[in-house]
Amino acid sequence: MGVKHCLHCDRDLPDEAYYVSKGHLSHYCRECTKEIHMIRYHRKRRGEEPPPLYTADELLCRPIEHVLEVFTYRQLSELWGVSEPEVQRIMSRPWELNFRTGEPNLSYEYRRKARERVESTL
Ligand SMILES: [Zn+2]
Repeated sequence: MGVKHCLHCDRDLPDEAYYVSKGHLSHYCRECTKEIHMIRYHRKRRGEEPPPLYTADELLCRPIEHVLEVFTYRQLSELWGVSEPEVQRIMSRPWELNFRTGEPNLSYEYRRKARERVESTL
């Protein structure tokens, strides 16, 4: 009987603690596999987006131009109250001046709203 290391809970567990699929042991132990599936299932049911690539702390240190790494176009259109094509235009050239307002496309108002949203998830 072998022992296998579970990368999720960092424990060395006997082979019986793992699921067997096509003659191979599962990556994670049974407990972890169940837990991971549960979390995914509940996120999906609540319609949540997958977790961002950065933690909230890391995000606050990043330039706000990286908002697209955190928010989808759809989320930004809701946050900023503009259409999705408008969000795409803004984020394609965030520094280009808007000919009507003379402000950069990614105006200070938009930056503030995006930053506030990130901060509220802390
Ligand atoms: Zn485990």
